Amino acid sequence: MKAHWADPLLVNMTVRCRLLILIQPLPAHPRAYLLDPLFAEHYGLVHPHPRYDQLIEYEGKRIPGLCIYSASEFEYDPRRDDISKFLNQLTIYTARHLVWLRTRQLFRGFPPNGVLLRVLLPGETLINDMPSVVFAGDPRRMIMLDYWSGYWPGPTARAFNPATHLKFIGPNQQCWCGSGSTYKSCHRPLDKAKLAISR
Ligand SMILES: [Zn+2]
Repeated sequence: MKAHWADPLLVNMTVRCRLLILIQPLPAHPRAYLLDPLFAEHYGLVHPHPRYDQLIEYEGKRIPGLCIYSASEFEYDPRRDDISKFLNQLTIYTARHLVWLRTRQLFRGFPPNGVLLRVLLPGETLINDMPSVVFAGDPRRMIMLDYWSGYWPGPTARAFNPATHLKFIGPNQQCWCGSGSTYKSCHRPLDKAKLAISR
């Protein structure tokens, strides 16, 4: 098998995870939260798709939901029941997230075009990974952030933002958000509005 640049970093990858799963009234899919290692509120700056619309307060921390469908291949396999689909997607998402944690690199400016400042040592776990605000020159004008941004392995979702949601999800297919409703009666109007604003 061909070597990957991230291979040396992925040592001692047997990590015990604590997940909180909230069952929703049908037809909605369950929601998932990673309690340990904690999925921090600030990851959203550089992480694929935390669900800030599903933010909860738990044990004194604000934790976004995991967007297990839209941040992966996004497929609702009709041969599987929703719980199996959910657990399947959740397992893949969590494994990818552990790789993301171990492959993070510190960038000044938004990755991948920002300046690379630091890489992790093999197996190193970050204690403080809050993005920092850096003032350069005139502090009123130049604000740069340092981000720890990791590698998200495997295929990226075909549908991961309003434009691709609208392109790949039919109006009568299930919505990407896990509500169990059809796309047209859930996020489609909102995605259309967001796309219109961004143009
Ligand atoms: Zn939706």
